[in-house]
Amino acid sequence: MAGKSSRLGAKTDGKAVAVKAIAVIDGITVENELLLGLPAKERESAFPRLVFVQLRRHDVLHEPGAPIKFAHFINSGLASVLSVMADGKRLEVGLTAKECFVVLPLIVGLATSQTLTVVQIQGDAFRVNAAALVQLLQQCPTLEKRMQRYVQFLAMQATHVAACNRIHEVHERLARWLLSCQDRIDSCTVPLTHEILAQMLGTRRSSVTVAAGQLQKAGLITYRSGVVQIESRARLLQVACECYQSMRRQAGNWSTEASADGHPR
Ligand SMILES: [Zn+2]
Repeated sequence: MAGKSSRLGAKTDGKAVAVKAIAVIDGITVENELLLGLPAKERESAFPRLVFVQLRRHDVLHEPGAPIKFAHFINSGLASVLSVMADGKRLEVGLTAKECFVVLPLIVGLATSQTLTVVQIQGDAFRVNAAALVQLLQQCPTLEKRMQRYVQFLAMQATHVAACNRIHEVHERLARWLLSCQDRIDSCTVPLTHEILAQMLGTRRSSVTVAAGQLQKAGLITYRSGVVQIESRARLLQVACECYQSMRRQAGNWSTEASADGHPR
């Protein structure tokens, strides 16, 4: 399995334009942000151990309490990290996509997790078995640092969303969630049922129906047969609670700090 990566850059009228890192594993373009732009030595160590896999909707990436067999670097699509109660009720505590890695305990040598991770929007990922990942992290300090920072990002997201669920109205949280989702899948079309949305927002399905109706009536979204279509991102931004911008701002600050210390993500 071969891997390669390059940086494309150019100057226009003396001004530098955006530099984009491109990496390919077995003919598949890497979109996962933890894998993009790794130093050559780390790419040579990591890429041959990664196996490309398709992610289907409702695929379980790991079960709570079960030994973790594989880690996934999500390349496209979307997965939810869920807390599961004894009666089976589920609540989303994290949203994961191409910026992420599943599952986090492996980074610090732990082999189980209390959360459930389920694919909500189909896509694909690069998979590595848990034992290989532990070895890999010893050889890849940049990758390890990025993954540690991702843990902090996910913790920030979980704590912020916990407060959001207590304080903000359902339609504001729905707008926030749809914007976050759009950022990760690069699409205005979000294929999710009211039932899944209720899990993600920590509320009843009937409340989601009312909130989605409000946004639809205002012309911000349309909802048909389990698919939400974002009609106006600008107006969703106006309706979303402050949490969306707050989390983006913090993520941006950390990205700047990470670039300054030589381990950019
Ligand atoms: Zn909020």
